[in-house]
Amino acid sequence: MTERLFKILIIGDATVGKTSFVQRYVNDSFKREYKATVGVDFALKVIQISEEDTVRFQLWDVAGQERFTSMTRVYYKDASACVIIFDVTAKQTFNNCLKWKKDLDSKVSLPDGRCVPCMLLANKIDLQEKAVTEEEVNEFCKEHNFIGWTEISVKDNVNVKESMNFLLEEILARH
Ligand code: GDP
Ligand code: MG
Repeated sequence: MTERLFKILIIGDATVGKTSFVQRYVNDSFKREYKATVGVDFALKVIQISEEDTVRFQLWDVAGQERFTSMTRVYYKDASACVIIFDVTAKQTFNNCLKWKKDLDSKVSLPDGRCVPCMLLANKIDLQEKAVTEEEVNEFCKEHNFIGWTEISVKDNVNVKESMNFLLEEILARH
């Protein structure tokens, strides 16, 4: 019987869909109206891997401080993994992913000194007006040491669970 708890950071610019992503993943719900949260929201996702093996994801949804593109060390402390989200229709939110990644890597690492595994998610692919190309994101991920990226739509529930399962595999491979 094993039970493991992992802290997962959800970061990225305001309005990219972080809170929606967490709500979708944890509660399978989607709300259209935008509500800026203040502080940090926590959500817990329990994943039953087998009868004897449970994993808990504690999701840290940054809220309100996104405009600084920077967080405190306390926020990042003891994180097992990170998800950086951008909005495919808003180029600047993609450009800022580099700042988010650098902020992460400068403030936290795994106990063994390695980088915290970080996945990039391109949200809102249900919308037509894409401002970022696949090649750009591929290049960016390779260059800046992301474990992977994928397109998602929290609204249409595309790749939300799948991406988190991928992240889970990556986390377990490190523990
Ligand atoms: P946060 O500031 O990063 O937490 O962003 P929110 O989760 O609050 O979402 C901001 C806005 O984007 C809300 O109006 C959401 O309904 C909307 N949104 C989130 N995900 C999607 C998506 O996949 N597609 C579309 N079209 N809108 C989305
Ligand atoms: Mg939010």
